Amino acid sequence: AKGDGPNTWRGYDPRLRAVLARTAARRSGLDKALSESSFELYYQPIVWLDDGDMGGFEALVRWPQPDGTVIPPDDFIPLAEATGQILPLGRWILRTATDQAARWNTIRLARGLAPIKISVNVSAHQLRDPGFPEEVGTALADAGLDPALLMVEATESALIDKAGIALANLRTLTHRGVGVSLDDFGTGYSSLSYLRDLPVSTLKIDKAFVDGVPDEPRQTALVKGIIGIAKSLTLMVVAEGVETAEQRRALARMGADLGQGYLYARPMPVAEASALIRAGRVT
Ligand code: C2E
Ligand code: CA
Ligand code: CA
Ligand code: CA
Repeated sequence: AKGDGPNTWRGYDPRLRAVLARTAARRSGLDKALSESSFELYYQPIVWLDDGDMGGFEALVRWPQPDGTVIPPDDFIPLAEATGQILPLGRWILRTATDQAARWNTIRLARGLAPIKISVNVSAHQLRDPGFPEEVGTALADAGLDPALLMVEATESALIDKAGIALANLRTLTHRGVGVSLDDFGTGYSSLSYLRDLPVSTLKIDKAFVDGVPDEPRQTALVKGIIGIAKSLTLMVVAEGVETAEQRRALARMGADLGQGYLYARPMPVAEASALIRAGRVT
């Protein structure tokens, strides 16, 4: 009968069918969550390695469930990417994060403290959207946030774009003063040519490399080399996944500027991040 052939959905084996059914359920779940705006942003501090001052926060999206559990981004961002749902979701993330950063900086300004930056992850789909720079501009204007206080975090893989729209978008943003951070640096394979060609202001060294500092000599040598290259290109360096005081010291000694990781704080809900802002310090 129609729909029973080997090349139809019904023809797939039961395991694949179960996977497809779950994917379909999660996809419509994402639609519902988008229309009800039931996502939440968590914020993780990014801290100056030398003196522990607050440099900024990275916004990290979460999908809270009615049963109190929270679905982590790795479990729904790839799907949202594949379906294009990342465009409306990404717009919400951008607007929420910039708005929050403006509020926090109002508090810091009133106390005579330096402004902090907000880092927002953007995925390939967003970067290749010709309307992306406008979207960023509108979010900044509506929030009343200085473009220099926004860092857009993009991975190398998101920048592999034959049409070159991602690159053109990043250049437009850079010209408007927005910072660009190359995320997960070291995990791709064409890293060095990217560093040469991209309008990047900051390099984030992936946790996978930071993990080996300072105990594994080869990993540590690599991190030292990456920091050296970054510095010679006058890039800022942020180390991801800093978990111990020993790592912090070693990274600071090697010249990394900022760190982010469980040593300082895990990603936290907005109320806790606001409490840190009021306290004025992370540590
Ligand atoms: P990422 O951008 O590399 O974010 C860093 C991840 O490392 C976060 O996981 C953070 O919680 C985790 N992390 C930070 N410090 C430590 C540490 O000291 N130890 C350990 N074990 N982990 C640490 P998270 O929040 O689960 O996010 C995972 C990934 O999901 C992110 O990796 C990013 O690629 C993606 N993602 C998160 N939020 C967004 C978003 O708003 N938009 C997009 N497009 N992607 C997002
Ligand atoms: Ca990131
Ligand atoms: Ca990262
Ligand atoms: Ca990472």
